[in-house]
Amino acid sequence: MTHYHNFINGAFTPSSGTGVIEDRNPATGALICTVPDSTPSDVAAAIAAAQDAQKEWAKRPAIQRANVLRQIAARIREDVEGLARIITEEQGKVLPLARVEVAFTADYLDYMAEWARRIEGEILESDRPGETIFLFRQPIGIIGGILPWNFPFFLIARKAAPALVTGNTIVIKPSEETPHNAAKFCELLLKTDLPPGVINFVHGRGATAGKALASSPKIGMVSFTGSVETGSAIMASAAANITKVNLELGGKAPAIVLADADIDLAVNSIKASRVINSGQVCNCAERVYVDRRVADQFTEKLAAAMAQTRYGDPLGDKPVDYGPMINEAGFHKVDKLVQGAVAAGATLVTGGKRAPSDAGFYYEPTVLAGCRQDMEIIRKEVFGPVSPIVTFHDLDEAIAYSNDSDYGLTSSIYTRDLNTALRACQEIRFGETYINRENFEAMQGFHAGVRKSGIGGADGKHGLYEYTQTHIVYIQRH
Ligand code: NAD
Repeated sequence: MTHYHNFINGAFTPSSGTGVIEDRNPATGALICTVPDSTPSDVAAAIAAAQDAQKEWAKRPAIQRANVLRQIAARIREDVEGLARIITEEQGKVLPLARVEVAFTADYLDYMAEWARRIEGEILESDRPGETIFLFRQPIGIIGGILPWNFPFFLIARKAAPALVTGNTIVIKPSEETPHNAAKFCELLLKTDLPPGVINFVHGRGATAGKALASSPKIGMVSFTGSVETGSAIMASAAANITKVNLELGGKAPAIVLADADIDLAVNSIKASRVINSGQVCNCAERVYVDRRVADQFTEKLAAAMAQTRYGDPLGDKPVDYGPMINEAGFHKVDKLVQGAVAAGATLVTGGKRAPSDAGFYYEPTVLAGCRQDMEIIRKEVFGPVSPIVTFHDLDEAIAYSNDSDYGLTSSIYTRDLNTALRACQEIRFGETYINRENFEAMQGFHAGVRKSGIGGADGKHGLYEYTQTHIVYIQRH
């Protein structure tokens, strides 16, 4: 059994404490590895290493920093299969999706590296004779990256790549549910020219290691992906030091199916968005609004498609479409919302309970018809393979229902009419909208939520610049 230490200043470093966190396979319960339940002083040591490394790192031309990102991408590509199996084993996603995650992570590092020669400041017109005004984009300093478990490997790159290419250093706390892939990432770093201290990893729990990171006055920005509740706690920790926060939080994505939609396309896309990673994705189609005129047809087809979905141990003998829930608590959260919806009058069309298994918590692919806007299943993030359906009279009602949510991350619309699509896009208040396709973002886009789904965003040019601090300089000629 391997115990992985923290990764500080370019070396695996034992924790100052004795606490240990077990990493278990959610499909079998088997112990995979252990990592430290790190103390605040471990976090402080990682921050000190990041601080020592930052000045020299920022002095390097961006293209040199980018070349290190490319090296990391190359090391990742040398063992896509091995890394994918590690992700599947500890997180429970199916192997093809884990392979996509690993490949996407390498591509993301390369993509962010491409920005090295494109980071641009501005030269502004002055009101004063003989003066020039420059706007520089400087690194923020040290980034604190706090990660969830659902795309654990990719999230490392989503934080580290924009941080590093813009001249920051970073301390990352992986989720306590999925530390193994992060430890493997550190092993890859040792095979690159990354200077010590530029990327540091501290394992541990949110309430101790996570909190120590978010509340450190030395951190310039906390970049967090996870739940709304934790996002709120992190803002509170950061508030004491007025530390900038970048928050990618939960979602409750509406999928609007108009009467003129290609129903088969809508069914297949919504199903794909709902069962991917067992429904444990922030941008998943979490609630479906269907025009009354096509509701029966749509519901029947979606239920049939969901019922055909295969699930089970993703490393078992049979091919499956999704694996277990991350843990027992995740399963109970899903089940409670489904049972609550049924008690409040929803109709269970298919699924609705734990699937039989010796180990692991699998939720049956589930469709609920006759849901209402006031039901908890329409208002809270389910994070499981469950599609609750609400019907609507017209587009105005569908948009009003969609916008009536604490969440505002992603949304989708199915229609063949360009005018309808355009009007819906103009009136729907979400960070992201997909027209006639499943929910999955591109690295050159900008993944950002409104309302409680977050502050700031990730990916593309706008995501890159989140990791910079502007510096405006006025130069007066005399
Ligand atoms: P979580 O909020 O429970 O935990 C995320 C991380 O925060 C973990 O590393 C945890 O240890 C840490 N943490 C917990 N309490 C903390 C505290 N007080 N201070 C500092 N750190 C703390 O989320 P999760 O269960 O790992 O992930 C699922 C959630 O993440 C869902 O809500 C999902 O929608 C969201 N998510 C959002 C996106 C996005 O891009 N918007 C992407 C993936 C997941």
